[in-house]
Amino acid sequence: MKRVVIVGGGIAGLAVAKTLIEGGLKAEITVVTQNPHYFAGPSRPLLLTNEQSLDRIVRGYEEVAQKVKVVVGTVYAVNPAERKVKYVGGYTSHGGIGELSYDYLVLAPGIVLDGSGITGYAENRGNVANVYDPGRVSVLKNRVWNAEKGTVVVYAPKAPYRCAPAPTETALLIDAVLRHRGVRDKFKIIHIDANDKTQPPVIADVVSQIYAKAGIEVVTNQEIVEIGKNYVVTKSGEKYQYDILALLEPNRAPKFVEEAGLGKTWIEVRSPQDLRHPKFDDVLAAGDAAGLPFPKNQEIAFESALFAANKILEMEGLTYRASVQYAFLGWAYVGNLEGRLETYSLMFGLDFTTQPPKPQKDPQPKTDYTKAKDRWEQTYLRQLFGY
Ligand SMILES: Cc1cc2nc3c(=O)[nH]c(=O)nc-3n(C[C@H](O)[C@H](O)[C@H](O)COP(=O)(O)OP(=O)(O)OC[C@H]3O[C@@H](n4cnc5c(N)ncnc54)[C@H](O)[C@@H]3O)c2cc1C
Repeated sequence: MKRVVIVGGGIAGLAVAKTLIEGGLKAEITVVTQNPHYFAGPSRPLLLTNEQSLDRIVRGYEEVAQKVKVVVGTVYAVNPAERKVKYVGGYTSHGGIGELSYDYLVLAPGIVLDGSGITGYAENRGNVANVYDPGRVSVLKNRVWNAEKGTVVVYAPKAPYRCAPAPTETALLIDAVLRHRGVRDKFKIIHIDANDKTQPPVIADVVSQIYAKAGIEVVTNQEIVEIGKNYVVTKSGEKYQYDILALLEPNRAPKFVEEAGLGKTWIEVRSPQDLRHPKFDDVLAAGDAAGLPFPKNQEIAFESALFAANKILEMEGLTYRASVQYAFLGWAYVGNLEGRLETYSLMFGLDFTTQPPKPQKDPQPKTDYTKAKDRWEQTYLRQLFGY
């Protein structure tokens, strides 16, 4: 029986496994994933305003393990010539070093946050919070709910990074919490962006109007190159003081990708529809770690996974193909200027089936869009994790 190893039990990895099963592939499918649980990304920013709770966005792998083998471990090396994957166990019952052999390898490990290019990052790592992992959201939340006055600096690195609107969401949700607490006038909020516009560009004009109403200062085209104890410095030498820093580090694929010669920042693929590595027919990429010319978000991650699974089914001579194209709809949280902990969102989308890609948006923020995003996120979790 063929062996398929999938690295990463997130949106893309589990979508590959599900599609291979739906396609009738008779294979031993193993998902190796870092943690015994998964935290969904999209609504993490709402933990700041208490509109989301961790229990609604955490999933275990026990239902998934009824259908495929799940190994909890961190992959640290891939040898494409020998078709081997090495991992170190992250779960007591699977503890220690392990190795898996494969006929097909699908790499879907998502991104890592890499601050190593920023001077002073290691020394001041404790000052860096953001909405990108549950621990750090909780730190950021604690700071925002307890500080009495000061400057909040929010930072977005150069695109592509995971979830384009997350930095603006962070700035506007912090604004809402401070308003709710009645202390907004004691704070300055500055959004520093390494890009020429806040991301995604399709809603940058609306965000700019909301920022103006909220009194959030925005500085574009400024890459943070240094972090000090209470200041950051940008490439052009501008210095900004901070009391609270919500900085997103540049994103990249985990280091083992580069060490295996599979890509430098992202995993190389032949094309968005053919996600095989250019040098290896049996190594495919999916999700945020894949080097695709699209934004890094859940819809694109899912769609790339279906393309990757379709390719394996094709190579195995099976006729089933999941229906898929690259297009997405998204919802960006834009806070609440009245200080109610009831978040408004903007709806936007991009359709990559036309050239140039077709953007769409509703410039009117709505609380209904926040609810729609929640339903969408829960639907994905139910489909992939079985509950
Ligand atoms: C704060 C935040 C807000 C977001 N907002 C939105 C949004 O509004 N809309 C939207 O569409 N998307 C949003 N996203 C992005 C969305 O969550 C990702 O694009 C999507 O999860 C990518 O899927 P993936 O499978 O590539 O990565 P993930 O879902 O992250 O899955 C990767 C899995 O691989 C595991 N892994 C990592 N390294 C290893 C390793 N070395 N060995 C084994 N396993 C490993 C990880 O633990 C994880 O379980 C947001 C993300 C975050 C964090």
